[in-house]
Amino acid sequence: MTEKLYYSEPYLREVEATIAKIDFLNGKEAELILDKTIFYPEGGGQPSDRGVIESDNYKIEIDHVYKKDGEVIHHGFLKGNKPKAGDIVKVSIDWFWRYENMKQHTGQHILSAIILKKIGAETTGFQIFDKYNKIEIETDEKLNWNLITEIEIEANHVVSKSIDVEAVWYNELPEDLEQKLRKYVSEKVKGKIRIVKIDDIDIVPCGGMHVKNTREVGLIKVLRFYQKTSKVWRIEFVCGNRALIELNKILLDYSQSLKTIGNKNYPLFKSIEELKESHSNLWKEKEELRKQLIDLKIEGLIEKSIKVKGFNVIILTDEISMKEYQEIATRLIDTHKKTIFLGATNRYALFAKSKDVAIDMNELMRAVMGKFDGKGGGSAILAKGGKYNAKPDEIINEAIEKIKEFL
Ligand SMILES: [Zn+2]
Repeated sequence: MTEKLYYSEPYLREVEATIAKIDFLNGKEAELILDKTIFYPEGGGQPSDRGVIESDNYKIEIDHVYKKDGEVIHHGFLKGNKPKAGDIVKVSIDWFWRYENMKQHTGQHILSAIILKKIGAETTGFQIFDKYNKIEIETDEKLNWNLITEIEIEANHVVSKSIDVEAVWYNELPEDLEQKLRKYVSEKVKGKIRIVKIDDIDIVPCGGMHVKNTREVGLIKVLRFYQKTSKVWRIEFVCGNRALIELNKILLDYSQSLKTIGNKNYPLFKSIEELKESHSNLWKEKEELRKQLIDLKIEGLIEKSIKVKGFNVIILTDEISMKEYQEIATRLIDTHKKTIFLGATNRYALFAKSKDVAIDMNELMRAVMGKFDGKGGGSAILAKGGKYNAKPDEIINEAIEKIKEFL
């Protein structure tokens, strides 16, 4: 069984070890077991360590470490010669990553303890991600920023008190200690129990990695919180250097957003509300102007309209979008009687009529498309066509001929 140095010496960054077993998953990917390790395997919401296992003639970049049947498995990618069982290797972990995870984990103990103390809410879930951490709590309380600020102030006060964080193994828990636990020992835990203690502020069974003293945690800062179900809330927070990195990212975004906005006197959200309102007014104005433009265009088209058997035939062959064709046609037949609209570009055609014209536009379109190998159809009032081998003028002329036949 691997000696777990990450528990006995959590601040050890480098060690010499012996490969007990190695499997090659393919040429460059390997999984190893060592006689002793400083790599923390993923568990309890804390991600695994990463780092390097190397000798003079090879190097294995470890990206994931996990527990299997009580053993610690190191997964990684090999560069250089092939390692073998019995090799003596230098083992080193990515200390910045590990130390930050230790701060996040210890910060979570403090935050969860203060939340329990202040609003009686138990922490039911915890996960450390690359950039932030997440806890889930169960409560009937409605969280808000005032309450969160009170919790943060008290949690950060615990940090500033420089309290030692102790991890003690017990074969059996003393009864008085058991009563002080923030969480019961899971039934899954077999054998020795590891209790992590921050004075009498937080006493809890835990197998994760923690800093030696609360002052190392640095700032504990909540970034977001939201209700997941009626009783479950999620709180996302950061500690240590990750708190500085994340807060600076948010501040940079804020200052850049502020730079792009004219009115800097308001809080940003007020300026955004003003912008949204002005955007919506401009949009309404634009729509109004567009309608006026369509009306003007229709007036011009009517002036040039031709008479076919007593009906006004309006012709449009401009290379504009199908959407514009449809708008012009719809507005035209809604506002004018005894009117037929014939529109065609190099790519598509659109025919429409006012209700008082006794020709089916679907039939008209199919007849015209049939002549020029095109495709199309629609309703009795409005039909569309395309994929034809004809110029716009040819489509229009053919449509006029068909109208004369049909009427
Ligand atoms: Zn812990």
